[in-house]
Amino acid sequence: MAIKPNKQMIRRSIVIMVIAILCLTIVSGASLVRIMIIKGEEYQSKASEQQLYDSLVTAPRGNIYDKNMNLLATSATAWTVYVMPNSINKLKDTEKAQKIRDIIAVGLSEILDMDSAEITKKVNQTTYYVIIKKKVEKETADKVREFISQYKDYEMTRFLGLDEATKRYYPNDTLASCVLGFVGDDNQGLAGLESYYDNDLTGVAGRVVAAKNAKGTDMPFTYEKVEEARRGNSLVLTIDSYIQYVCEKYLDAAVEENHIAERGAVMAMNVNTGAILGMAISGDFNPNSPFTLSVEDQAKVDAATEEEKANVRRELLNRQWRNKAVSDTYEPGSVFKIFTAATALEEGLISTKSSFTCNYTFVVAGNAYHCHHAGGHGTQSLERAISNSCNPAFIQIGQLIGVKLFSKYFKAFGMTEKTGIDLPGEALPTYHKEEKMGPTELASSSFGQTFNVTPVQMIAMASAAVNGGYLVQPHIVDRIIDSDGKTVETKSSGYKRQVISESTSRTMRTLLEFVVQNGAKNGIVAGYRVGGKTGTSQKMVKIVETGKRGFYIGSYIGIVPIDDPQIAVYVMLDEPTGGSYYGGVISAPVGSRVMSDILPYLGIEPQYTENELKHISVSVPDVTGNNITDARKALTGVGLSYKVVGGGDTVLRQHPTSGNAVFRGGTIILYTENTEAQTVTVPNLVGMTANEVNSAASSAGINVEFSGNVSSPALKSYRQSINAGETVPVGQIITVYFRDEATVDLAN
Ligand SMILES: [Zn+2]
Repeated sequence: MAIKPNKQMIRRSIVIMVIAILCLTIVSGASLVRIMIIKGEEYQSKASEQQLYDSLVTAPRGNIYDKNMNLLATSATAWTVYVMPNSINKLKDTEKAQKIRDIIAVGLSEILDMDSAEITKKVNQTTYYVIIKKKVEKETADKVREFISQYKDYEMTRFLGLDEATKRYYPNDTLASCVLGFVGDDNQGLAGLESYYDNDLTGVAGRVVAAKNAKGTDMPFTYEKVEEARRGNSLVLTIDSYIQYVCEKYLDAAVEENHIAERGAVMAMNVNTGAILGMAISGDFNPNSPFTLSVEDQAKVDAATEEEKANVRRELLNRQWRNKAVSDTYEPGSVFKIFTAATALEEGLISTKSSFTCNYTFVVAGNAYHCHHAGGHGTQSLERAISNSCNPAFIQIGQLIGVKLFSKYFKAFGMTEKTGIDLPGEALPTYHKEEKMGPTELASSSFGQTFNVTPVQMIAMASAAVNGGYLVQPHIVDRIIDSDGKTVETKSSGYKRQVISESTSRTMRTLLEFVVQNGAKNGIVAGYRVGGKTGTSQKMVKIVETGKRGFYIGSYIGIVPIDDPQIAVYVMLDEPTGGSYYGGVISAPVGSRVMSDILPYLGIEPQYTENELKHISVSVPDVTGNNITDARKALTGVGLSYKVVGGGDTVLRQHPTSGNAVFRGGTIILYTENTEAQTVTVPNLVGMTANEVNSAASSAGINVEFSGNVSSPALKSYRQSINAGETVPVGQIITVYFRDEATVDLAN
């Protein structure tokens, strides 16, 4: 609890004293006279020393759980260290008073790791109560207690004390920090869910009114009244910690691989309910210490001039707290072609039998638009037009739709308003109003440029296109529960409106599966039917502002299983500077990796094609302790080879160990003697086809696991998890990543 006496409280203390004294009259008239006349002055001066307070008792803040009731945020006991300067000031022995101030300043600066001058300043104030430090943990609080008792000759309990309070803890550190947000000094929500649901989480503060003798001895008029604090409610999220972790893992890897300058976002959402299962923002922070910058960002602050430091720091903090999926808008580029196709199909303006001609250049109202494909695509079917991501074809589809219908559906798909997701700071989209939309604006809007929307709007739009036509409500909180676990409020998983028919939606599913099979091939996930669309948009505002080119956003939305849509995965990487910047090359593989990990976890079983079966991995069984015969059976049974090192009969250790994924046909090294592990040098495995990687790996004595797009035997590897030339134990597993470098989808 926090004690904050003020003048009003002190006045009240005197009133209570007077009342108490009056009560005493009944008991003893004589002693009253003595108190008031003889000891009156002394009591008056002592009144200020009473630990008399009327203080609020903060209610414990509610917890935040993930969908499986794993704790994401909780509150634990902490302490507030305070001093009572006036109690020191009142000492007649001024030398002793100064000594006490010095002892406190030096002692606490050591225990609390604070500047002693700062403490001295507080101790020298002329107030009753000053907080030295908040949210001190038990270990430190114990040291303060020890310190107080160490100086009991100075009656340190009269000058220095500890109040119980609560401190917010985030047990998973950075996990989902841009979603969770964080709290301030007084446990008030400052960002993310902590801010959006602050009222629910805070609870109702209790109250203590008390008068006690500062020395702890009984007074004739002690008084105490307590109103219990009511614990805050807790949130149960739709976020699944494992899925969140997977989204963050592959986002971080992609940000590093592609030298992303302006952060990125990955989301996984249930397309039928709008429940967000994972929302990862790169460059996030640790909510346990939200004001700590990353090493790189801190270096930027250190490098700034003195007068700039504060500004630079504030900007970088805001940036690390910012939820890019909700608070930032961008030009979506070709992913938006999902909208254009769905609208034209719904209105019967095009059909799967339509064809479109692309002669590279397409002129609208005097403006020439070029296809990304040199020479143009010629005449193409609708499914080819979308998998080719052909801008001239989509400008033509836009013209068929016209401004009026385009605007109508733009609104229906939720592109003109905030989604209403339960997170603070959702950005408003900017777009061409119907009355200001001419043929040029219609042309560029048809392929996703010259207007700005948020990532969360995009995932909702794409979900509606494939889920039967329903615009769902994206949301993070599933329900609010009280401290007994009883549900207080359930968040709606309903939909806002149906925007296209079931049959148009079915056509969209077919089209988007065709796109992944024929265009956005890096979105392929072995064992699953995936639909999706990639996009590469230019950051026109920045290009105009800086006069430079080369600012891109590579994005991808994948939906799986596309024949019965359940999960949408969204990926956006803002300003790749590592070479490739196409959504199909850098973002689609991220979607594929996320899906490969989360689909089996969600119980959606893979069904492999024959070609995929050749490339899938198997889980290594544990054969340690087995005799060689049993070990052989266990390994060959799952399609693995083995090699025995040593002359014993029993497997003492194996490499790779159990549970690891190894390419089918890989070799497990079985050690039957306590010999040193044999080592090999890692060969180069980049720039090869799957078959070439296999033969290079097996002749080097290592195992490989494939990741990414291995849908076609011609696709080449672009990365290996351990670099060529390094020394590793025989049988080491190396992950080799494949993608289709030819995938292009540049819009505009
Ligand atoms: Zn074209």
